[in-house]
Parts: sequence; structure tokens; C-alpha cells
Amino acid sequence: MQQHSGQHLLSAVMETHFGISTLGWSLDLDTSSVEIPRKPTAEEQEMIQICCNKLIRDLVPVTVSSTKEAVSSLPKDYDVTSGLVRVITIGEIDKNPCCGTHVTNTGYLQQIVLLHLTPVRGTNFRLHFVVGDRVARLLTKSYKSLRTVSADLSCGIDDVEEKVKSSLELTRNLQRKEKYWRFIVAADEANRIRMELERRGRAYVYRAEAGLDFLTNVSIQLGQEITGLVVMFSGEGNNGGSIIVVGDPVKVKNMTTRITTILKHVKGGGKGAKWQGKVSKWEKGEIEQMKQMLEIGENNAYC
Ligand SMILES: [Zn+2]
Repeated sequence: MQQHSGQHLLSAVMETHFGISTLGWSLDLDTSSVEIPRKPTAEEQEMIQICCNKLIRDLVPVTVSSTKEAVSSLPKDYDVTSGLVRVITIGEIDKNPCCGTHVTNTGYLQQIVLLHLTPVRGTNFRLHFVVGDRVARLLTKSYKSLRTVSADLSCGIDDVEEKVKSSLELTRNLQRKEKYWRFIVAADEANRIRMELERRGRAYVYRAEAGLDFLTNVSIQLGQEITGLVVMFSGEGNNGGSIIVVGDPVKVKNMTTRITTILKHVKGGGKGAKWQGKVSKWEKGEIEQMKQMLEIGENNAYC
């Protein structure tokens, strides 16, 4: 009831003082909204809220009446001659047909708080708001969240915004550095693999912490023309991992046949010089088995 009467008051204030008509509305469980044809400026939003709350403090009567006369905002398909029109009036500011239940006085609304705007359908906007008891409920919930975040960030509530900004900046810097070092390590790994390929005709890479992006990076730096065989794999335990096998097509095929025999949770695909697989889970001992298979001598049937 508070949300519905609050919506009538909000729509009336926007229409009367700011020329913003209400095209639709929605009263939801947590917050409500009105659809409006344009985005009000920050100053307008502030003034709309001040104006609504003044009318709440003024304890304006909300009255219900019935009439046989057509009211301006009545739907076009409504036939007034076959019944009455129920009208809700808020003092001097609003007179609207409505069949809903309402408070008897704007004082019962306690307070209206405008929240955020979301764009909808072309240039329209949805203006979200809360009224009455929900204002306190939302404040308590938001304050609790803010306290939790400030405790996590080890700072006072007033410093949360600044701390989040500096943490995001730090994260971006670390991501840039990580990308750089990942590239350097992948380049080093690719060089080591090239030397191994020259010496033994095969090589392998295993990195527990690496992901598919690292293996792909090494693979890109190795280039297309690989003679011999390279097996790259990553991850550990229940987190699973990735496998890339590149090189001579016959050797790639033999190796992937062997890999899919050894590993219980692997799926992959590819043909010719490259095969790529995903391990959803590494069983105990499987990584060691892979390493042993790849380390055995020149007469290894699979290499
Ligand atoms: Zn209504």
C-alpha cells in the first residue's frame, strides 16, 4: 500500500513540477519503479525527492471518491457510461483513477527515496524507488553490506570508495605485470622446447598452476612447423587442467591415443599437427604417469 500510494505521489510530483509523465510502473518485492520518457538530471532527481518528502511531512489527505465523469488519465477503452470511475485524490496535487488500496494520508508514507535509473526501450528510463518501511529495511541491508566490505578492506566505512578504487588500480597493474611475465616465461619455455626438439626430437612441459592460455601462448610462440613431438599439460587434482599436443601428425595421433588410454577424465579433439584436450579431474598418480611416459628413452613407442 505504501509503495502504491508512493508511486501516485512520485508520478504526480514529476508530472506537475518537472513535466515528466509516467508511462508505466512496477511494484516489486524489494524496490519499485516508474517508467519515464527521459532521464531526469541529478538536480531534478534531488528536487523530486525533496518535493515528495515535503508533501509527506505536510500530511496531505488521500481520499477515495466515485464519479460518472471521465477523468483525463482514464484508459481510452473504458466506457464511463456503463459504470463508475473510482478516483484517488492526493490533496491539490493529484487526481487519478485507480482501483487499488491506499493510505489515508501522505504521512503514512514516512519517506520516499529515489534510487537508480536503468535505460529501457529507446530513450525511456526506469526510475527505481522505495517508500516507507522499505527505506529503513534497505538502509539496514546496505549498511550491513558496507560494514562487511569495510571490514574485508580493513578500513573505515568513509574510506571504502577510495580503497576500492586503489585496489582496482592495483589489480589492473598486477594483471599487466602478470601478462608481461607470462609472455616472458612462455617465450623461455618455447626456447627450451626448441632446444629439446633439436636434441631429442621431443619435449614436454608441465605446469601445475598454468592454464590453457599459458599452454596456448607457448604453442603460438613455437610456431606451426614443428618436427618431432611436443606435449604440454597443466593443472592438478580436482581442478583438472588442459593438454596440448603438437608436432608430427603421426606422432600426435599415437600420443593422444596413449593419453586418452591413461587418463580417466579427458576429452579432446583435433587432427593433423595439433590436438587439444581438457582434463576435468586429474586422478591420483596420473600426472606422474604422464611424466614417466614422456621421459622414457628414445625407443619410446609413442614418441
Ligand atoms: Zn493506482
